[in-house]
Amino acid sequence: MNILVINAGSSSLKYQLVDVVTGKVIAKGLCEQVGSEESTHKHGIDDNEVVHHQPLPDHVAAMNLVLETLTEGDDAVTDFDGIAAVGHRIVHGGEYFDRSVMIDEEVVAKIEKLKELAPLHNGPAVDGIRACQKLMPATPMVAVFDTAFFQTMPPKAYMYPLPYEFYEKYGIRKYGFHGTSHRYLAQRTAAILEEDMRDLRIITCHLGNGASITAIDHGVPIDTTMGFTPLDGLMMGTRCGSIDPAIVPFLMEHEGMGPEEINQLMNKQSGLLGVSGVCNDLRAVRDASEKGNERAILAYEMYADRVKKVIGQFIMLMAGVDAIVLSAGVGENCQKMRRLIFAGMQPMGIILDQEKNKQRGFERIISHERSRVPIIVIPTDEEYMIAKDTYELVHAASQIVLVPHEEPEEE
Ligand code: ADP
Repeated sequence: MNILVINAGSSSLKYQLVDVVTGKVIAKGLCEQVGSEESTHKHGIDDNEVVHHQPLPDHVAAMNLVLETLTEGDDAVTDFDGIAAVGHRIVHGGEYFDRSVMIDEEVVAKIEKLKELAPLHNGPAVDGIRACQKLMPATPMVAVFDTAFFQTMPPKAYMYPLPYEFYEKYGIRKYGFHGTSHRYLAQRTAAILEEDMRDLRIITCHLGNGASITAIDHGVPIDTTMGFTPLDGLMMGTRCGSIDPAIVPFLMEHEGMGPEEINQLMNKQSGLLGVSGVCNDLRAVRDASEKGNERAILAYEMYADRVKKVIGQFIMLMAGVDAIVLSAGVGENCQKMRRLIFAGMQPMGIILDQEKNKQRGFERIISHERSRVPIIVIPTDEEYMIAKDTYELVHAASQIVLVPHEEPEEE
């Protein structure tokens, strides 16, 4: 059964067609610069990617092109009826959604209402949903939220020590992001360790361009590093993560910055890029640091230290840990960063195996046999998780058989 997974950004539309039974990706691609004359469409898996240039004035045009590519012409992989359902990745579900849901008008209205909290993401997501509804009105659709997994966090974890009224007035609280990835990682960890997730304390580290860490205590996330927005927590490619909040008004005053500019500074010009002055890409920072670039060395060490500190905090919060998981671009691939993160943790029973750390490949345990805590590398798969949620909800909905109401017979 094929599920189309859609991830709509402000000027982009990513898609994957996933066979949810085998987990195989049948086709994937990306429309970029949607809304301009310069739009591009990349389609194909790995080395077979083909790039076309063609203007895509809006998300409906992009969606139309995607459906055409998938169902017509030389690259067709299915017919229209072969797309059983569509799963939409939605960044912000606010306090409305603690799980994935079938999309109806009420759901779209709530996603739209949350635009204020995630203007760059929820608006385009609604555009993506509307485009699909227009082009495939009979196909069931599901919304999968980045924030939903964290809705079970206790108030002591999600409240900020600000006057309570701002939580009530604006919904200022920690929401957490990357939830679909953390949920996938926790499930895979339990499967790899052949344990029930409800018996495990897991720390999942999603270290990509954006990065976050979550503490999952007996199957329930109890804290995560991203907050009201994805800016909080770890140092990232271009985001600063947690800093002393007093720096914000200080810079605004001394640099004459407005809210837009300071937001831009913290989101786009900070992190690895800001400190190293080299790049937001960890590989380039690593290469520069190996050539002796002092600021690159500093950025690299700061990144590792911040991950290490959060792992420590979360171990205390859960009074121990049964598995530490690394994922996404940095977590999956960068052995040097992993070495730095786990350096010196031996007294706590967390020991990286230097040889296993060098291996590449799929899911793997990279801790030493003497390590009390397994360290596991798991490539994340948010699209598969979205496809799986979509399949399960659509399948459940189709199982609901309405039993005709029978009037009691009159005596
Ligand atoms: P995104 O959040 O954009 O999905 P990714 O998960 O693709 O990000 O991660 C991107 C990061 O992963 C970049 O900083 C990149 O340098 C890093 N990365 C990818 N491959 C490697 C590698 N082989 N070695 C070190 N870092 C890597």
